[in-house]
Amino acid sequence: MSVRCGIGYDLHRLAEGRKLIIGGIEVPFDKGPVGHSDGDVVAHALCDALLGAAGLGDIGTHFPDTDPKWKGANSLLFLEHARKLLDEKHLSIEHVDAVVVLERPKLGRTCAQPLIYSKLQNPIERNCRRRPSWRQIQNR
Ligand SMILES: [Zn+2]
Repeated sequence: MSVRCGIGYDLHRLAEGRKLIIGGIEVPFDKGPVGHSDGDVVAHALCDALLGAAGLGDIGTHFPDTDPKWKGANSLLFLEHARKLLDEKHLSIEHVDAVVVLERPKLGRTCAQPLIYSKLQNPIERNCRRRPSWRQIQNR
């Protein structure tokens, strides 16, 4: 058995008039990420990590910000697509971890796990694989 590791990183400037979506969950705040899609940094970073580990490029390869089709898109669709590409290569996801760094708002223990799980897990392996973890660290 071989193991592949991927590292994803994402950063968006926040601006007024945008929804703050993190891990598929809308966080109440007066600003949100500037981006072509919904700007979900967790979905983008995990997507890049998975695609990178599989040697499948990055999120920009599959969902270019020049394509109007992805304007305002729910980034969990990108994550789901990445998982399907991994499935096609017979690669399974053993573990994912994400750290969100924000000055404001405080995220506390907002739980995005169910949404992330639903997009990443292979239903066949759901009961026999260790679940991915979700961790949030907040600045004080
Ligand atoms: Zn992004």
